[in-house]
Amino acid sequence: MVAIAIDQFRPDYLDRWRTQFTGGLAFLLHEGVFFPHGEQDHAITETAPGHSTMMSGRSPASTGIVTNDLGVTDSTAPVIGSSATGASPRRFIGTTLLDWMLARDPNTKSLSVSRKDRGAILQMGRVKAPVFWYSQGRFSTSRYYADTLPAWVTEWNRRDPIDRLKGTAWTLSHDPTFYPEPDDRAFEGGGVDRVFPHVIPADSARAASQIIDFSVMDSLTLDFAIDGIVALKLGQRDGADFVSISLSTTDEVGHKWGPGSREMHDHVLNVDRWLGQFLDSLGRLVPLQRVVFTLTSDHGVTEFPEAGAGGRLDLAPRVRALNAWARAHGDSGLRAGAEAGLIFGDFAAAATRYHLNVDSLASGVATEIAAIRGVRRVYTPAILAAAQASDLDAMRWRREIPPGFSWLVAVSVEPHWVLAGGHSSTSHGTTNPDDVLVPMLFRVPGTPSARVERTVRTVDIAPTLAAILGIRPTEPVEGVVLPEVVRHAPKR
Ligand SMILES: [Zn+2]
Repeated sequence: MVAIAIDQFRPDYLDRWRTQFTGGLAFLLHEGVFFPHGEQDHAITETAPGHSTMMSGRSPASTGIVTNDLGVTDSTAPVIGSSATGASPRRFIGTTLLDWMLARDPNTKSLSVSRKDRGAILQMGRVKAPVFWYSQGRFSTSRYYADTLPAWVTEWNRRDPIDRLKGTAWTLSHDPTFYPEPDDRAFEGGGVDRVFPHVIPADSARAASQIIDFSVMDSLTLDFAIDGIVALKLGQRDGADFVSISLSTTDEVGHKWGPGSREMHDHVLNVDRWLGQFLDSLGRLVPLQRVVFTLTSDHGVTEFPEAGAGGRLDLAPRVRALNAWARAHGDSGLRAGAEAGLIFGDFAAAATRYHLNVDSLASGVATEIAAIRGVRRVYTPAILAAAQASDLDAMRWRREIPPGFSWLVAVSVEPHWVLAGGHSSTSHGTTNPDDVLVPMLFRVPGTPSARVERTVRTVDIAPTLAAILGIRPTEPVEGVVLPEVVRHAPKR
């Protein structure tokens, strides 16, 4: 079972460039059941919440992964051989597909690889499995999982491919006339490094930190994953093993140059080619007619507002005002913050400390925010509790915010707006279709390929994979088994 996540991968990319694919994306589209209308059907369409839905069958309100910042960072679990912030699934609640597989077969082997900690950790739930991500020039793991790196990881790091790549350039894989997208849009990268070629720094330390912005990073992640599959002897047993791979570079490219950029077009063609090489390598280890593949993404992306439509909403000034107001009332412990439209803080504690009326504070702040240009809906806890099921935004916020989480207001913006200030990058994170829509694809040996236009949800992935394996989730899930995928699966 191989689960592939491509970070910030909009489903329209697969249609726009379908005829140009020759590698892994071509194989999966040709053999798989493709749902172009998958939804990360929750409000904060960011990496950590998105990855937490994929293999759990549950929304962030249930997985406990509310935002990126409240995702996997954990100072008590340092990264081995790195000074980067530690990471673990400490905040993740409940189980995933891997737990369900282990419940049936304790000998189930697994591996998770990503450039990002949250892209590697969250698909595996809390299981102390082989989970690796890129940190400061090396692949590593945190002390939640292990105290030392296995020999195959040390050996991959010793080869140091980043050192060989420093000073090289990302150049187009076709003639410039091949690409309908303009190379130079004035707003790309905040006006910096807008056109090809993009040169990786020649300095080793800068190359190690900046290579994550370059297309080639995904080829390193896939190369590392193959080494792990070989070393751990995955797929060599009489029983199913599980591999999760999350490719992160589409996210960097999308933030910096936007979904309409020549960079994104060229990068996705590279991903197709490298995924093809990965499948060739995998096929030499495990016959591909014995491998189930699934492909999805953690969120989409909204085009740069500077490209013409929409605008930017930055809630940071409102949060600063809230904290200043609390300090003026003698309370330095409110710790209000905002991420992707949600203003949160220790409001419940403040209510106890000095009889703060949180309901009236929320109403006042909501009224202020509702008057800002670009704001479409504002919810307070009271408004959200009373919302009707027909209110799509409200339902997405309900599936986002866990019970007991202390928050003040939740904001949904107009189409084409981003919840980010500045001007150097575009973003995702809203309840709008550009950010919510993701591809979902399942390649199951024996199931004919198909394109299914109805709307499905990423919480459906895990229960569907469980059905293919003939196992059941060990706890209630929100997703459903997709009949288009399992009806031809071999009975077990
Ligand atoms: Zn992401």
